[in-house]
Amino acid sequence: IGGTPEQEDYLEKVVKEFTITPNYLEKICARFMSEMTKGLDNEGQTLAMIPSYVEGRLTGQEKGHFLALDLGGTNLRVVLVTLEGDGKYKTKSSKSRVTDELKTGPMRDLCDYIADCVDEFLIEEGLSNAETTLFLGYTFSFPVLQSRINRGLLKSWTKGFNCSGAVGKDPVMLLQDSLLRKNVPIKVAALVNDAVGTLLSNAYQKPETSVGLILGTGSNGGYIEKMERIGKWKGGETTSDEMIINMEFGAFDNERVVLPVTQYDNKVDRLSINPHCQIYEKMISGMYLGEVTRNVLLDMIDRELLFGPDNGNYDLKAFSTELSGHYAFETSHMSTIEADGSPDLTRTKEVLDLNLNLRDINTVESKIIKRVCEVVGTRAAHLAGAAIAGIVRHCEISPEEGTDVGIDGSLYEFYPSFEDRIYEALAILLPDHKDVRKTVRLGLAKDGSGVGAALTACVAAQME
Ligand code: ADP
Repeated sequence: IGGTPEQEDYLEKVVKEFTITPNYLEKICARFMSEMTKGLDNEGQTLAMIPSYVEGRLTGQEKGHFLALDLGGTNLRVVLVTLEGDGKYKTKSSKSRVTDELKTGPMRDLCDYIADCVDEFLIEEGLSNAETTLFLGYTFSFPVLQSRINRGLLKSWTKGFNCSGAVGKDPVMLLQDSLLRKNVPIKVAALVNDAVGTLLSNAYQKPETSVGLILGTGSNGGYIEKMERIGKWKGGETTSDEMIINMEFGAFDNERVVLPVTQYDNKVDRLSINPHCQIYEKMISGMYLGEVTRNVLLDMIDRELLFGPDNGNYDLKAFSTELSGHYAFETSHMSTIEADGSPDLTRTKEVLDLNLNLRDINTVESKIIKRVCEVVGTRAAHLAGAAIAGIVRHCEISPEEGTDVGIDGSLYEFYPSFEDRIYEALAILLPDHKDVRKTVRLGLAKDGSGVGAALTACVAAQME
């Protein structure tokens, strides 16, 4: 990189801390699998392994108009989905921002806001006076203990949400109440987790899908499990011998038995609104990767290894108010920086200048920052790969059988090399799969939560 010996030493230390060796990755994957098994039997695990009440597999012939609502990240989306059969569909949607005030205020305010957004969308689409009540699939991407396809209790908030009056309650009933109060003619027919929805939407077009993943603000996975392996199932007879499991894998190894947690991760965790929770998610997903990177950079600054004393004057950049702000370094900046292939990292300098007011950064400093992004981003992808490999091994999916894996989320969609790096981990952890790209086929499940939720509402309608 061409830095001072001190800078190079520090970087080497950081690279080492963030690099997961093949042996260690195997250890993480093995632990992931044992937690899956324990979770299915309810034996003090970190993977909740929640049965989704979505049974069997899709035919691809499902048809009709359904609404989907997606709450769980940066935006609230309302989608009108027309399922046309043969894996085809059309969507129309609207998006609105969920402010921090709504995310942390009373649950009733949030539900009223959602009901208003749905109402507005129906008016725009000319559906507000529809003769029949539309069925809605509600993608509510937080840990929920489900008791029916449209009943469940919120276990805890994650990803920056913390509304009062919601934990221990049923998010479907709370939303249905708001809709009723506002005379919005909608039946909340299904409670859908986003990973489960992503699996379904991918499966509508690719029937060999057995895994769905979220790599966005948060991270989670769902997969199709055999009923006989769900030891804790108490829901009685089912019509199929398979059911989708919502793993809630963001909480994997919260007790930190295997996760290679660094001091930077600890800092992110400690200052988060859910300390000691979702450690795996905090090492993998969009909400946190930029923050982990920022913490490495701050530590370098404090050690005078970045923007350091220059001719006796401590550089003003070291005191960048912007960079000092909690969550100021966004994961999308990492994407731009990693994609910058120019020799003097022009784009990197631009991003830092524009977003963090870090002016005139020299090329060595830019290279250091890029290297930090690389190691944080690579670790995330390798950890995500360990989860996918764990599922494939648990389900004993042979190379001959293979599977499609539907993935939704900006991190997977936009972060350069994220997919390649997941495949690196898969190649290590699935040695039987000689050509792992052909047997574990990762693919973007665009519109995952929208179409998946509509499909779940459709399944629920068929069950009525
Ligand atoms: P959500 O998960 O909230 O439904 P997204 O899948 O769009 O929505 O994920 C948003 C997250 O992805 C944010 O945390 C953001 O930091 C991250 N993100 C957005 N754009 C990019 C990008 N270009 N590269 C990497 N991460 C991104």
